[in-house]
Amino acid sequence: MMDISALKRDLDGLKIDDHLAIVQQKSRDFYWYSPVLKQQLDHVTGDLIVAPKTEDEVIRVLAACHRHGIPVTPRGSGTGNYGQAMPLSGGVVLNLAEMNAVRTIAPGRVVTGPGAVLADIDRATRAHSGQELRMSPSTYNTASIGGFVAGGSGGIGSIRWGGLRDLGNVIRLRTVTMEAEPRIMDLSGEEVLKVMHAYGTNGIITEVEMPLTASYDWIDVIVGFDEFMDAAGFGNDLAIQDGILVKLITPIAAPIPYDYFKRHQKYFRREQSIVVCMIAPHAMDAFVALTARSKGEIVFRADKEADLRGLPPAYELTWNHTTLRAIRVDPDITYLQTRYPSPDHLAYVKAMIDRFGDEVPVHLEFIRFDGAIGVAGLPLVRFTTAERLDEIIRIHEDNGCWVFNPHRYTLEEGGMKQTDEVQLAFKRETDPQGLLNPGKMIAWENPEYDYRSGKSFLFKGLQKAE
Ligand code: FAD
Repeated sequence: MMDISALKRDLDGLKIDDHLAIVQQKSRDFYWYSPVLKQQLDHVTGDLIVAPKTEDEVIRVLAACHRHGIPVTPRGSGTGNYGQAMPLSGGVVLNLAEMNAVRTIAPGRVVTGPGAVLADIDRATRAHSGQELRMSPSTYNTASIGGFVAGGSGGIGSIRWGGLRDLGNVIRLRTVTMEAEPRIMDLSGEEVLKVMHAYGTNGIITEVEMPLTASYDWIDVIVGFDEFMDAAGFGNDLAIQDGILVKLITPIAAPIPYDYFKRHQKYFRREQSIVVCMIAPHAMDAFVALTARSKGEIVFRADKEADLRGLPPAYELTWNHTTLRAIRVDPDITYLQTRYPSPDHLAYVKAMIDRFGDEVPVHLEFIRFDGAIGVAGLPLVRFTTAERLDEIIRIHEDNGCWVFNPHRYTLEEGGMKQTDEVQLAFKRETDPQGLLNPGKMIAWENPEYDYRSGKSFLFKGLQKAE
């Protein structure tokens, strides 16, 4: 039995909130994108929200929770998708939003608190010295840098810089351990991988140092195509043009743009597939020349529009915003996260389109993988049953495509379906009682678990629904 009253006494003077509606709201993320997770996690809630303002306050919270055996689940802005920031066994939700200072800006790097919002970081670095973060999720305007590092994978900018976990894309992370006397660790080089994309299961990040690149007034452009595979081919041709500076290349199949991008709808025909791009101003002429060689037609150019009021930025049509816009129109839609092996990635894409047609409308994101161009997918799925969803995933895998299952709350099932020995070893060192974000790392909860069993992992400590 958790003694929350005793914990509250120990945390006297810190910012805490146990108002039921607030606690429920801060115990959620975007898990409801998945009908499977919606059913499993709808009732999950923490007992107390604690919002530290300094690293010393983080240490105080962790020491007190350790003393009382109370779980702690860190939270940035709560925009994660798979219940990542949801406290499966209750306890404290550690809201890091107030640790949002941008501390140091220097040529090529920035140091911030974990709660700093990505767009705020860019505003500061642009004003300071014309620099910006290398990459951001499409939740750029709300997501925190700590949440991106602990829960995200890449996004706008990954076409140039690769994935977030590629060496060099995070310079340094400062973390605090969950022990009787919490320790501070500074991780850099290979070591940052110990806590990156670990959902906060093996340390609380209290400071982040990120690399910067030159900032531009990126221009949103959308190119329309009658055939999706022509759109995908154009995306590939653009991606391999080393001379054209781009930040985003996103092919999206008809009828997604017309049916779900309501505020841009007037620019599309229903049967048109599109490629959403962000182009550096000085690269526009070359980009237009490349487009003229393709079967595409530029249907939207932000720099030629008289009035952009009411239109979201183009990146808010891409990455997981595509799914969000579709769900808002049709709540029966959900999605997958896929990778199509290179160099024949477009052949794999075509095979899946031929197989599923309009049941799985395709959405691709071009990314640089280890120096070569590759393609990831966030295809929509017209959901019918959990069994059919599993079957669609299996068919992808049987055909050589990888699926990072967004309908599971564990690290392993949403990832490579294997134990990450480095992160597990680090958890043994930093959280020996297993109090940080319980239930998310299968390797910790059940070392015997067979990833090939075909069954989804059920965490025994998951709160029971009332
Ligand atoms: P949260 O959701 O609060 O947390 C994410 C994870 O990190 C949780 O496990 C949490 O416990 C942990 N965590 C948070 N802060 C800390 C800390 N200080 N120390 C340790 N652990 C911590 N993701 C992408 O990678 N690319 C995308 O393009 C993208 N697009 C998205 C679009 C939409 C519409 C939505 C809803 C989600 C999208 N996401 C994307 C997922 C998510 O928005 C990003 O990963 C985002 O960076 C998460 O940041 P956050 O502050 O909201 O993190």
